[in-house]
Amino acid sequence: MSRRKKVYEGKAKILYEGPEPGTYVQYFKDDATAFNAEKKDVIEGKGALNNRLSEFFMTGLSNIGVPNHFLRRLNMREQLIRQVEIIPLEVIVRNFAAGSLSKRLGIEEGTALPRPIVEFSYKDDSLGDPLVAEEHIIAFGWASQQDLDDIIALALRVNDFLSGTLYGVGIKLVDFKIEIGRIWDNDFHRLIVADEISPDSCRLWDMKTGQKLDKDVFRRDLGNLADAYTEVARRLGVLPANAQPVTKPTLIN
Ligand code: UDP
Repeated sequence: MSRRKKVYEGKAKILYEGPEPGTYVQYFKDDATAFNAEKKDVIEGKGALNNRLSEFFMTGLSNIGVPNHFLRRLNMREQLIRQVEIIPLEVIVRNFAAGSLSKRLGIEEGTALPRPIVEFSYKDDSLGDPLVAEEHIIAFGWASQQDLDDIIALALRVNDFLSGTLYGVGIKLVDFKIEIGRIWDNDFHRLIVADEISPDSCRLWDMKTGQKLDKDVFRRDLGNLADAYTEVARRLGVLPANAQPVTKPTLIN
């Protein structure tokens, strides 16, 4: 029996060759890692939840004209995506201070920022994904000035869409990370949103209580991660409204 070819395995996802040229199958694992994989666990149900949530956010982005890699969901854990050349940057957008920004600049977590701040980290686990400036990105050829302008414009559109969508269900979007891919069309390329959008890569706080509904629950040992993600999915209508906060979510088709 022929087995499909694994193209890449990361900390939370696996990419397989897709059924058509120019596609990959993206498989969401239950593995959770933090602090550059120093902290690890398997959280039952996380992969299925992130598959559904990333589908939800990417489909919403497509519907407002923000190009992204999502084609269709295949099953509980897998989705078909467009093959892209990933730009080796983590593009971070922040609306409120938290995490590394709070540490670096001594700003209390939760402080509203005067405007959304877009930051870049160079994707390299062995270096701990260091923060880089546009100067480094252009000098080292990871992206051009035009690419950066396009990336910032994309990131801010994603920020407005996600902030508004989450605001509608009582969740504050504190910050998030996206990755951007290049698609080649002969000598021309365009940039699209790739990777995933899920509570693994966002900070999501309940608007009323401040309760954390994202990967900080795992990073900071604040409770059950799958329960937090189930709550986000339930509020967004991705899970039935009566879904129980259990580690084995009931997924609707
Ligand atoms: N983030 C991510 N992957 C990373 C680093 C950060 O998805 O490798 C997300 C993180 O979940 C948060 C945002 O990017 O929503 C900003 O993270 P920050 O720089 O504050 O780093 P952290 O405190 O998570 O180390």
